[in-house]
Amino acid sequence: KRARAAEARALPARTRDGHEVQIGANINLAEQAAFAIEQGAEGVGLMRTEFLFLERGDSPTEEDQYRAYSDMARAMGDRPLVIRALDIGGDKQVSYLDLPREENPFLGVRGARLLLRRPELLVPQVRALYRAARDGAQISVMFPMITSVAELLALRETCDRIRAELEAPAIPLGIMIEVPSAALLADQLAQHADFFSIGTNDLTQYALAIDRQNPVLAPEADSLHPAVLKLIDLTVRGAHAHGRWVGVCGGIAGDAFGAALLAGLGVDELSMTPRDIPAVKERIRQSDLSDLQGLAQQALAARDAVAVRALALPPVREED
Ligand code: PEP
Ligand code: MG
Repeated sequence: KRARAAEARALPARTRDGHEVQIGANINLAEQAAFAIEQGAEGVGLMRTEFLFLERGDSPTEEDQYRAYSDMARAMGDRPLVIRALDIGGDKQVSYLDLPREENPFLGVRGARLLLRRPELLVPQVRALYRAARDGAQISVMFPMITSVAELLALRETCDRIRAELEAPAIPLGIMIEVPSAALLADQLAQHADFFSIGTNDLTQYALAIDRQNPVLAPEADSLHPAVLKLIDLTVRGAHAHGRWVGVCGGIAGDAFGAALLAGLGVDELSMTPRDIPAVKERIRQSDLSDLQGLAQQALAARDAVAVRALALPPVREED
């Protein structure tokens, strides 16, 4: 029985009618790679690099970072690995960086906004990434908290310059879509980004104006709110219009119902906590894409998240 379960986890997340969704893991440490692969991960869709900066007294060096990225790439072998550039600010504060105190850190100098203002953070990280790529690591980089085309172009320019200096190969450069402005501009952003990854935790926070850490409002901060789904729909359309793939790496990607809905919206990749992978794969394998597309259309027309969650899941189709 256990062997059967392990076999099932290794199968692709392919619907009965042949549509395949890529499955990634959200992990930060190379030591977590083996477990993620065992659970059925086909790659890493989100490696958060904040962990390198948190709970220590000073910034990690370029060398420290180069080692962490290379270790993860080695642990993942030929599988895709998406490394997210530093997303400090908001709920993640680091004392030694001397960041100014802000009234509303979630609306402040966070993610790409901080990287663009602090080259001493951006440059060593990008150098470490290209050095790993120069060694043959199969990596992509993505930038958090993008709100405009100008930010993306500025970051791309820095990446291009560093790549040329290091004589490193090009690596795919993607962005997080986690602010409504980015979702609304997806069509334009897709002209300049190689891929998108939707951060539904922040996208929900910013679309619904609910602090993601506020326990009182937690039940209402549902990523299946139709307003959030409409932003996801726009993002997928914008990406696909330019031949870019789009993933989701927020918490809803690891919820079996949410994952099915996202597949119905046309999301190409779902990245989640490793332990959520088996149930998500199973749910997708039991579905027909056409049913999931119908579910997604109903969800987009629903009046609130409660109504979305009440939608009947397409019947689970047992193997005949
Ligand atoms: C998100 O916002 O959904 C996300 C994946 O990033 P983080 O949770 O690290 O902000
Ligand atoms: Mg986020």
